[in-house]
Amino acid sequence: MIDLHTHTTASDGTLTPPELVAHAAVAGLRTLAITDHDTTDAIAPAAAAAGAHGITLIAGVELGTEDERGEHDILGYFVDVADAPFQALLETIRAHRHVRAVAIVERLRAAGAPLAIDDVLALSDGGAIGRPHVARALVGIGWAEDVSDAFRRYLGAGRPAHVGRYRLSPAEACAAIRAAGGVPVLAHPTPPGNPWSDPKRLRTMLGPLADAGLGGLECYYTGYTARVNRWLAVLADHFGLVPSGGSDFHGPHRPRSVLGAVRVPDDTVERLRAAAGPVPGNRPKARA
Ligand SMILES: [Zn+2]
Repeated sequence: MIDLHTHTTASDGTLTPPELVAHAAVAGLRTLAITDHDTTDAIAPAAAAAGAHGITLIAGVELGTEDERGEHDILGYFVDVADAPFQALLETIRAHRHVRAVAIVERLRAAGAPLAIDDVLALSDGGAIGRPHVARALVGIGWAEDVSDAFRRYLGAGRPAHVGRYRLSPAEACAAIRAAGGVPVLAHPTPPGNPWSDPKRLRTMLGPLADAGLGGLECYYTGYTARVNRWLAVLADHFGLVPSGGSDFHGPHRPRSVLGAVRVPDDTVERLRAAAGPVPGNRPKARA
């Protein structure tokens, strides 16, 4: 069993890297990719634990990007975590995450929320800070029922405390991941709650992204039905992308995403490995 999309306390997950590996062992996983937001800091502490459990660990990352079509998350696999330019980019993005969290807290305070940036920093505990940490702090002071309620009321796009993310285009993210020896994969390409909302948009997006170096498409994801899996796998094939997948596990507090519960084809890891590196490899020419 494989899970190629997971988070730890290095970003907005609630399990430490060794705890995540221990959970993966219990779940019967043989291969695990850790894909924290804008950081690879979990990889080293997870590696020792993975070795002890006989689990193959893949160094991953998840980068938040945006363009005129909206926000897209791009996963990177097999990145060289020692690559200095890549780490410098991640550091720049994380610095912006901090500035953003401060701006969000300022807006919430202006709206009357008894919240300080230190409350949020305490929750992120030195990891890459994100809106889910602010959301948990809002739940803590009784301003939201749960994390999704906090996004609905304050933090989501168009809401009073919404602040944009670091501006990184999908093409820039693909280039950075490839330069660090990895392969970029478009994460959750369609919303699980409403997968057929805009199939045309995804289709028109994938051609330019594949040209920009995208190597894979997350076809298997928490909440996707078999029909969605098939549709996305056909799209992946059409654009010469490796069909990939994972649960997006953040910890036991989010019961919908279960570690290892999304079935991912066994050959995915080898195909991703073959597609990794500075030059997009193994891409069939057949594209309309
Ligand atoms: Zn994720």
